Amino acid sequence: MGITKEQALMAIDREKAVLTNASDRVWDNPETAFQEFKSTEILCELLEKEGFEVEKNLANIATAFSGRYGSGKPVIGFLGEYDALSGLSQEADIFEKKPIIDGEPGHGCGHNLLGVGSIAAAIAMKEYLEKNGKEGTVIFYGCPGEEGGSGKGFMARDGVFDELDFAVSWHPADQNSVVVGSSLANYQIYYRFYGVSSHAAASPEMGRSALDAVELMNTGVQYLREHVIQEARIHYAITNTGGFSPNVVQPFAEVLYLIRAPKNGQVKEIYERINDIARGAALMTGTRMEMQFVKACSNLVDNTVMEEVMQKNLETVQCEPYTEEELAFAKQMYDTYGGSKLSLQAVLTRYEKSHKAMVEEVLAPHMNDIICTAIVPLMDTETPMAGSTDVGDVSWVCPTVQANICTESFGTPGHSWQMVAQGKSTIAHKGMIFAGKVMAATAIDMYENPELIVKAKEELAKRVGPEGYVAPIPAGIRPMAINPKK
Ligand SMILES: [Zn+2]
Ligand SMILES: [Zn+2]
Repeated sequence: MGITKEQALMAIDREKAVLTNASDRVWDNPETAFQEFKSTEILCELLEKEGFEVEKNLANIATAFSGRYGSGKPVIGFLGEYDALSGLSQEADIFEKKPIIDGEPGHGCGHNLLGVGSIAAAIAMKEYLEKNGKEGTVIFYGCPGEEGGSGKGFMARDGVFDELDFAVSWHPADQNSVVVGSSLANYQIYYRFYGVSSHAAASPEMGRSALDAVELMNTGVQYLREHVIQEARIHYAITNTGGFSPNVVQPFAEVLYLIRAPKNGQVKEIYERINDIARGAALMTGTRMEMQFVKACSNLVDNTVMEEVMQKNLETVQCEPYTEEELAFAKQMYDTYGGSKLSLQAVLTRYEKSHKAMVEEVLAPHMNDIICTAIVPLMDTETPMAGSTDVGDVSWVCPTVQANICTESFGTPGHSWQMVAQGKSTIAHKGMIFAGKVMAATAIDMYENPELIVKAKEELAKRVGPEGYVAPIPAGIRPMAINPKK
């Protein structure tokens, strides 16, 4: 009297109201990296209600948690996020920029959907194990601080994912695709300069300017750019200029660096050269430099075995069709940013060297979609995606796969008010439910074909090499709220 994969997925439909309600409540309480206290409460409550055993304070992080069901092997992980972005407060379901509270955070990356979509997958997987009386463990991981915090990097460093046989995740997007290829690894570091204040006209010789040090450091890094690999990216923000008075020699200044490159080792090498530049700037200005390592994340290790399983499910599991009202809503949103085919074009660019013609053939009919129903074909690519994700660290520890799932009007810019405004729409809810089903179906296929788990692990071992995962975040570094509440 067992149940099939398709019957297990129906558990997600059964819980749809509870799931969308939880996602909307997370949207209503936007919290930035490592401050996700209400969101943690909402999601833990949902997990408990659904029969998962909740464990809080993972890796000693107050807003990291898990929900566990079952016992024994395999151990299947679903990764969820729920942090928001600062300054993106926005009313839902309107077609103009209008903050609910000016300056407050908003869900501009759809993580209200991300967390709950992954819980949906865990619910279906639990249903499958429970109703079939099968052995196996399903764990939902609540991973905080993805935006600028690399929560999973800290969790991976502390061994949280070590017991997993494989992990599955997703991200809200404006099209449907399995994530292929790598992403950029990154490091984030504060450089702080301490000088001596003095009257800038009466006694300038007594002063040592920390702001000069920041400027010289940045100038040094501009010259470094010519001598790093093409794919590297070096970003910075001056987070403290030392004050508003030009007649004071600034005694303190601070700059935050974000360094990216395709591989962990490449980031490390550039990081060490930037440290030398910072030391040089301190030496030149007679100031003292202190650095604070904020966080790091690894590049993604893709897993073709799991990508193929997920692609098959992305193509067969159905998303609930969009209604006329939803298309009209999406069109109105689309018009606020003038529409855009950028995201599909970005897909095409990444495939330029490999399978462009084939991808183009599938995607061409979707270029004018308002809600993009395209399923991007699965093809390997050597070009890493332009951004970074802390899913990268999990992907070094166990075979990991993720999908982009459509939750918004086509071409919606990431981290925008339009993204926030659509976060409680039925389009978003449909995408979230679809994502849960695709993820659960992928996990069930892996479960039913244990040789795939073996193969996925062999592929991982080959890709990471004998050294395996070396956490890029040094021991002792603690997660840091970039935007702490006053
Ligand atoms: Zn984001
Ligand atoms: Zn995101």
